[in-house]
Amino acid sequence: LATVAPDEGGLKGALGRLRARASAWSPAAATPGGVRQLHFLVALIAPALMLATIFFMGHQQNAAELASDRARAVSVAEYLKTRLTDAGADNANWDSAYRNAVLAFDVGWLDESMGPDAYGTIDFHDVYVVDASGRTLYASVQGKRNVKASAAKLLGDTLKPMLVRASRERGVRGPSGFGRYGAGFAIYNVTEIRPIDSPIYDRLAPKRFLVVAKLLNEKTLGQLEQASGFKGLRVVPLADRPETSSVFSDALGRAVGAFAWRAQAPGLESALAVLPIALFVFVLLAYAGFVGASYANRHAEELVASQREALRLAHRDALTDLPNRRGFVDALDAATARGETVAVVYMDLDGFKEVNDAFGHAVGDTLLVQVSRRIQRAVADAGQLARFGGDEFAVLVIGEDAADIGRGVAEKVISALLGPTETAGKQVFVGASIGIAVGAPGLSGPELIRRADVAMYAAKDAGRRRWRAYDPSMDEGRLVRRQIADELRASLAAGQVQVSYQPIVDAHSTEIVGAEALARWTSPTLGVIDPGLFISVAEESGLISQLTRNVLREACTAARHWPITLSVNLSAAEVWDLAFVDDLLGILRDTGMPPARLELEITESYLLREPEAAADTLALLRELGVKIALDDFGMGFASLGYLKRLPLDRLKLTHEFLADIVTEAHAGELAASVVGLARALGLPVTAEGVETEAQANLLRAAGCSHLQGWLYGRPISKAVLGRRLSNPATVAAAE
Ligand code: C2E
Ligand code: MG
Ligand code: MG
Repeated sequence: LATVAPDEGGLKGALGRLRARASAWSPAAATPGGVRQLHFLVALIAPALMLATIFFMGHQQNAAELASDRARAVSVAEYLKTRLTDAGADNANWDSAYRNAVLAFDVGWLDESMGPDAYGTIDFHDVYVVDASGRTLYASVQGKRNVKASAAKLLGDTLKPMLVRASRERGVRGPSGFGRYGAGFAIYNVTEIRPIDSPIYDRLAPKRFLVVAKLLNEKTLGQLEQASGFKGLRVVPLADRPETSSVFSDALGRAVGAFAWRAQAPGLESALAVLPIALFVFVLLAYAGFVGASYANRHAEELVASQREALRLAHRDALTDLPNRRGFVDALDAATARGETVAVVYMDLDGFKEVNDAFGHAVGDTLLVQVSRRIQRAVADAGQLARFGGDEFAVLVIGEDAADIGRGVAEKVISALLGPTETAGKQVFVGASIGIAVGAPGLSGPELIRRADVAMYAAKDAGRRRWRAYDPSMDEGRLVRRQIADELRASLAAGQVQVSYQPIVDAHSTEIVGAEALARWTSPTLGVIDPGLFISVAEESGLISQLTRNVLREACTAARHWPITLSVNLSAAEVWDLAFVDDLLGILRDTGMPPARLELEITESYLLREPEAAADTLALLRELGVKIALDDFGMGFASLGYLKRLPLDRLKLTHEFLADIVTEAHAGELAASVVGLARALGLPVTAEGVETEAQANLLRAAGCSHLQGWLYGRPISKAVLGRRLSNPATVAAAE
């Protein structure tokens, strides 16, 4: 034993070192002491191993317990949802409610049955009656009537989708979801107020909804704690959630907060229970001071490790296990503070929302994980990849050549995402639009991220699946859009947005049988603005619903006596907006336009976002007698199975498709197959953008029933179209 070299590894080495040290203490005990020291070592290792085993098992048990706690917390959330959904349904599906809150509006009755007088006897704290646009007609907040309270303010952007869903459920049970409530949280339910199988139902009465809220206050949580067995159950913001927590989501599936509970650590408890015995053995066998010190040391290390783990989790994205926004921002701040050159490569997936909406969140999540791996492989060690949430990712590149490396990363990610991804047995295509911003002295982290985001939008505008580096002119573009929004708002209020009408002709007789209303606007400072631009500004600034209503009213007034069909374009906002159905009814009534002669055009990419809700809104519109056309068909979004489920009357072939087919060798066959697809669904097809006789012949042969384009007339004023309709030959020639 004495010859064992001290620097040898493993147990032998350790023994050697220990011996060497022991000999240093008492040089006299050199040889007989060897056996004693072996005993000493065994005495040391045995209890240590025992303790480690006990704690290891305790730890394992805790991990299992945490998983089952989380599952239990999910059922607590589901339980709350079901209860509130039931309460909402009980109070909304009721003949009296329909009579007193829809057919008539009796505030006294509401006070008595659900408001202040009923407070404490019902299973919710707040109750609102709202109309289809989300406007609050009645509110009782925690037992007090409140004329200022607004359900829209409380529920934010979840209210409208919830209203649409509630009306789809035909009033029986409406959607529920969690949300913020002041500094805390509440669970909300929205149910349409309907009579139960009763003849008093009036199809033309306005739709009204009951919004109820149950606060996750101390009392609610106390009850839940008792029912669920959680100790110290509480609700916490997402950012502050401890490990023993489980998130809850709003009606759109976005996480809003979390249930947290006190770690019960039963494994640790049982470990602690045997600890005295273990310690007794320990004391018997070991030299107390040494052992005590090593235990304390280990304990301290464990504590540090668990703190480090908590910190790591707060900086990680749970789904992909990449750093999250916080982790990214911290790393970025640290790098800029060190004075290093950095580049932020910011990416947003193209086509992800469509997949998520079409196939559901579970498929969406799997896809995100797959795509994040692909991106990670493309980035490799050029930078640090993080997920910002949703379908947004960012790469932090640090170093002298950050700008070049960032561009390289962008190229690689774009080509890595060129092919299809197979998710849940489906082949889907997602790409990335990427913006790059390079740091400069004095530029803060948030500003860099903002610039990269602006550049990302520029890449999207330029046609997706490409990258753009930030350029100050991109911010100017934003300023112009803001200016357009301000001026457009004023023009809309003053009724200064005009409407042009483009003829639509019968494919065979070329007689005018319809006209499409197209918005036209001249900005007081910028001059004539392209409709593509001001419509997209109107859509992002919320002005679109006013614009569409103005155009509808104007066009219906103009076309009421024309012997042709009128087509008007809708935007996504109208597909979401139940109040639009009411407003359209009002416009038809006021102008005297027969609904059968009105066709509403909706772009297919809008419908794809929420196909089920879209189908319901379209069905409601068709109940009024108007027709629905799918605009810009042929852009490649809609699948056949999906089209079959939508209630449509017509397809409009996009002129972009036409631009392609004139250069194609098999133009005729291509056109025939697309039109054939539509006709297989029993839908007539209008071709847009027809500029030449050759195109017209091809489309006619392919089976299009109607044609529209410069060949038959540009968009013209209502006066010119009116004259042309009353005297076709002369006016057409004069144009
Ligand atoms: P859209 O509904 O597909 O309208 C057809 C567009 O094709 C119109 O462009 C029209 O002027 C253009 N066009 C017609 N014939 C030809 C042709 O032979 N060749 C070419 N190259 N183009 C032709 P416009 O007026 O610029 O409108 C662009 C888009 O703006 C419309 O596309 C529509 O989606 C939207 N839009 C226009 N007015 C409204 C409106 O009142 N409300 C809403 N929500 N959207 C509108
Ligand atoms: Mg159109
Ligand atoms: Mg179109």
